[in-house]
Amino acid sequence: MTLYRAAHAALKLLLWKEDVPDVEAAKRIVEPLVRRHWDLAVKTAVLEVLGRLERMEDRLPTNEVDAVALQRSDPDRDDLIAALVLSLFLVIERNLKVPIPFRKAALVRDAINGLLLDGGKSVGSIFPLSSTRGVQLPGAVEDDLHLMLHGRLITRRREIENILRRMITEKPQRRAALKSGEPDELTTKLTEILDGRKWQSAAMDQWAYRAFALGAALSAIEAGAGTLYVWNPRDDRTTPFCRWVHGRVIAVGDAKRQIDRYLVAASSGSAQTLMDVWPLVSFPNGTPEAKFGTHFRITVLPPYHNGCRSLVKTTPPVL
Ligand SMILES: [Zn+2]
Repeated sequence: MTLYRAAHAALKLLLWKEDVPDVEAAKRIVEPLVRRHWDLAVKTAVLEVLGRLERMEDRLPTNEVDAVALQRSDPDRDDLIAALVLSLFLVIERNLKVPIPFRKAALVRDAINGLLLDGGKSVGSIFPLSSTRGVQLPGAVEDDLHLMLHGRLITRRREIENILRRMITEKPQRRAALKSGEPDELTTKLTEILDGRKWQSAAMDQWAYRAFALGAALSAIEAGAGTLYVWNPRDDRTTPFCRWVHGRVIAVGDAKRQIDRYLVAASSGSAQTLMDVWPLVSFPNGTPEAKFGTHFRITVLPPYHNGCRSLVKTTPPVL
């Protein structure tokens, strides 16, 4: 081994303590595409809603919509804004069902193949893309990305509906707060949701680490590994669940079944089905281990929660 390669290997080991560099590299390719896709969906939705408002205004004797929307003391103002925000979000949701622009799809596909291969390399063998499962896997992983984003969107819509409901039911309190000049908590939350950067990053993180784990598991199985293990860097960012799951055995049969369930769920077109098959749970401190066991039996392979750094290995890790 040359000095350069030794240094490179040492550096990789050090980096390994943190996030997986290969996964982070793939995320950097996909993230801007998803962001652009989202920004375009929002822009189109705003224009569409504005168009609808203008057509509404045309039918009114005066510029009433604007007047009501701007008038804080008007009793109908919050209801009108709630209706506008919800219709805006519904249009965004519809626009995002359109896949990422086809010209960019090749980049996403490259990132997926890279993730699967790098996952394979991480267990010492290379994921065979020529195998039957390999041929359908990149497609499923691509569907997974869309479903993950859409699943998050469904959750955000529920949040938006709750916020809007509160805006309407808590009108008197809100009005008092607005008058006193305090920051408006509900408006801030709405703005955050419509910006979407945080939850898109979380969705992509989970998607990318899942692709890496799939590559690792399939590669290990293909290479004839008898047993798989869960490994976690175990540092101050490790969750109680991942501290518990570190070193646990994954039976090859269980891994295969989970991968098959995943392939079916990813092609189902339903974000909910995918989340049921591979749920992400962040357990609060003090959760009984029985709950950990159930979650491990359902998910089998990492990631197990948002921002999870647990990985599949073929040798038992140091406990
Ligand atoms: Zn974890």
